[in-house]
Amino acid sequence: MKKITYLICLASLMIQACQSVTNQTNPFLKEFDTPHGVPPFHLIQNSHYLPAFKEGIRQQQQEIKAITDNTEAPTFANTVEALEKSGQLLNKVAAVFFNLQAAHTNDSMQAIAEEVAPLLSEHTDGINLNEKLFERIKTVYENKDKENLSTEQLLVLEKYYKDFVRGGANLSEKEKERLKQINGELSILALKFGNNLLKETNNYQLVIENEQDLSGLPEGVISTAAETAKEAGMEGKWVFTLHNPSIMPFLQYADNRALREEIYKAYTTRGNHNNEYDNKVIISQLVALRLEKAQLLGFPDYASYVLEQNMAKNPANVYELCNKIWEAALPVAKKEAQKLQSMITRTGGKFKLQPWDWRYYAEKVKQAEYGLDENELRQYFPLDKVREGAFYTANKLYGITFSQRTDLPLPHPDAIAYEVKGADGKHIGIFYADYFPRPSKGQGAWMDAFRSESGLLGMTPVITNVCNFTKPTGETPSLLTFEEAQTLFHEFGHALHGLLSQVDYPSVAGTNVVHDFVELPSQIMENWAADPEVLKVYARHYKTGEPIPQHLIDKLQKSSHFNQGFATTEFMAAALLDMAYHTVSTTDPIDVEKFEKQTLDKLGLIPEITVRYRSTYFSHIFDGGYSAGYYAYTWAEVLDADAFEAFKETGDVFNPEKAEGFHRILAKGGSEEAMKLYTAFRGKEPSIEPLLKRRGLK
Ligand SMILES: [Zn+2]
Repeated sequence: MKKITYLICLASLMIQACQSVTNQTNPFLKEFDTPHGVPPFHLIQNSHYLPAFKEGIRQQQQEIKAITDNTEAPTFANTVEALEKSGQLLNKVAAVFFNLQAAHTNDSMQAIAEEVAPLLSEHTDGINLNEKLFERIKTVYENKDKENLSTEQLLVLEKYYKDFVRGGANLSEKEKERLKQINGELSILALKFGNNLLKETNNYQLVIENEQDLSGLPEGVISTAAETAKEAGMEGKWVFTLHNPSIMPFLQYADNRALREEIYKAYTTRGNHNNEYDNKVIISQLVALRLEKAQLLGFPDYASYVLEQNMAKNPANVYELCNKIWEAALPVAKKEAQKLQSMITRTGGKFKLQPWDWRYYAEKVKQAEYGLDENELRQYFPLDKVREGAFYTANKLYGITFSQRTDLPLPHPDAIAYEVKGADGKHIGIFYADYFPRPSKGQGAWMDAFRSESGLLGMTPVITNVCNFTKPTGETPSLLTFEEAQTLFHEFGHALHGLLSQVDYPSVAGTNVVHDFVELPSQIMENWAADPEVLKVYARHYKTGEPIPQHLIDKLQKSSHFNQGFATTEFMAAALLDMAYHTVSTTDPIDVEKFEKQTLDKLGLIPEITVRYRSTYFSHIFDGGYSAGYYAYTWAEVLDADAFEAFKETGDVFNPEKAEGFHRILAKGGSEEAMKLYTAFRGKEPSIEPLLKRRGLK
């Protein structure tokens, strides 16, 4: 995952300067006096944040005012470049605060976050309403051919201009008023959708009183269910919920078919009970308002409005990709269904495969066909070796080196700091690795920047990876699952994107790229993690140091195709449902159940598979940031499979020429158009064939 970093903008809000803070005591209010200017974590106290935020906002407001008060004619330098230079203090404190709020938080930081949020949103809103500023940017944009601007400068300019226009800056007063209304209603509807879904998810519990009904479930799953029951005041029973970590293993392992059916139906009807938490009318309203907004801004439908900014560019391109993958995956899913049906028959079942049977019988087939023992596998993935494997890969590809620095302040005592140097021995940046879970850390794994690279501002990158990997216990070091090893490589890929950035303007540095391109640098690293040649280098037994045996590599490779027909079909059905909602061209009310059914029937989705998210709980597209964007996960996968294929075609997964080409993608960040950047590396547009091959769909 790539954290969406807080983008600093501008404001009209007047905030009192905070006289109570003196520059002597607040480390944010002076240069960081540390090696390479990393944040002085040891000196930062919670009481420093709020005054630094306020002072940062005040400074940026002054900087913006200086831009809009400038009596000289607007130019790229005195407007856009001046904007890029503004807000440095605010960026500095926001980067540290939001990083630590995610990786090492406490009640006091949460309280600060709540206090800061409205200040920042007012500050940010200010930018979109600052008409004087927009007028200047518009003038620069309209005269862009008269200035001799570089590709990067043109892209930065376009980014600023489009953000304003997409926010409605070019509309008439009346239209602006309507857009504001629509935005307000959209945010309330999305909020309601999310609240309803949360209520519906939490309102259901599967309470098990009879131990026999736990048959088939692994120990860990049972003890978690007992814990959940205890928390709910039902000690001695077992409770399963509709949250994924609870329901998914139940569907995968529980022998009791009737209970699987019960919990499955509860899961797939959330938000669809015609009660006060029903989401159907909300969806209809959301879809209509989004369409109206898109049309107001000059687009035929909402998907066109969203996709204009992405690498995919328009709905036709998304449909082309989705349909091709759909056609390849559906026949495979049908074959898988047959296989599961024969497993049912073989094990004495006399019923037809249903959606609540799929995960359960898939698990049985998997054990029968591959028999991968996760505990045996783990012994070859001690954390230190996996991290060395990631460093080894980066070194072989880009010549860079990582050496531990013990003299740098750390964001947390568990973190390790590395200095990254180029092949020429020159300093590139600092990389923090913070791998173990703790109560103060959020779930999941991510990359973020304490400082982004910028040639203009003379800044080198300070990047962090934060994960939640299995901790060492007693004598045993941290042993990762293969999935965790891939996650380490994935986040490290994002880190390389930040570290190898070589641009001038901070707003296009590193991971500041379009939505459907940002996962390419991370996902491609997973290919090296799983490559047999690389595995033999880094996957070594934690006791003997022996490299991973060939038969385990074979099993890993074979099982990677397992159940991919199902996974792909379930996913693509959701991506296509998303597109269907966001390409409607009338604001007439939608009968959600009928719309969903018609869309999926037209695709030919088989009844044994349910779309990954049914409409009434499709949070990504109705209250997340993924409307007309769910396809992006697959888009990035097409890119990473195709890009890795470029290496494989040469017979050398570290081919120097290809590595140099990919290095350029990483260095350029968002300073060149994504498709141009990609085709320059690949020599052609990406093809979906490598992805289909990798998933065993052809
Ligand atoms: Zn990611």
